[in-house]
Amino acid sequence: MTMAKRLELVERRIAAACERSGRSRDDIQIIAVTKYVSVDTAKAAFDSGLEHLGENRWQDAKAKWEAFHESAESPNDEPIWHFIGTLQTNKVKEVIGKFTYIHSLDRLSLAEALQSKASLMGITVPCFLQVNVSGEASKHGMEPRELPDFLQQLQSFPALKIIGLMTMAPHAEHAEDTRAVFRGLRELRDEMKQLPGGTDLTELSMGMSNDFEIAIEEGATWVRLGTILVGKEEE
Ligand SMILES: *Cc1c(COP(=O)(O)O)cnc(C)c1O
Repeated sequence: MTMAKRLELVERRIAAACERSGRSRDDIQIIAVTKYVSVDTAKAAFDSGLEHLGENRWQDAKAKWEAFHESAESPNDEPIWHFIGTLQTNKVKEVIGKFTYIHSLDRLSLAEALQSKASLMGITVPCFLQVNVSGEASKHGMEPRELPDFLQQLQSFPALKIIGLMTMAPHAEHAEDTRAVFRGLRELRDEMKQLPGGTDLTELSMGMSNDFEIAIEEGATWVRLGTILVGKEEE
């Protein structure tokens, strides 16, 4: 299937989910997750109008980031990159300035590393706090009860702009089973928005290939789509 065709099918499903939940399509952005695909496929995704690309490891992203960067004649020729995976503190120096958004801020040591590099570069980094809503042991992210204190602490990190929350739902045989997790993240966002340090929390990064329609129905503003949109290629 061509990229354009896959995008068309995804758009149809997004439109239906918006329709069901009374939301506007304009309130949802797609991040095309290119971690399973080649440079060429990532370029095809970008050329089909997907300007937000996501990667979860710098090791896998590097060749793609460089390929876009080296052939770019203007900033418009480069995607807006999202770092969506667990970020090791020692990788911050690689991704800062290259990835516009960080979706996986989950601990103070990472905030400190991001703050120090970002302030040296004179940039502000929009970040999502990654939350383990489901409580599943294998999922990264902070526990919901840690959020208020963390938000408070982040107020002394002026180079970080905390724009929302991110979660991954556990793999579910029936997508419907993920609904409670996505609803939980939205409710947490609404609560945190009332707290000092939480006023900029407008965004919800949630929903992947298997569950994006439920996530949209529950308020996702960014969906992260890999397999269903750009495919999965063998190494
Ligand atoms: C891989 C990945 C995705 C996309 O996964 P698909 O199921 O292929 O859509 C989304 N978010 C994160 C954090 C990922 O690591």
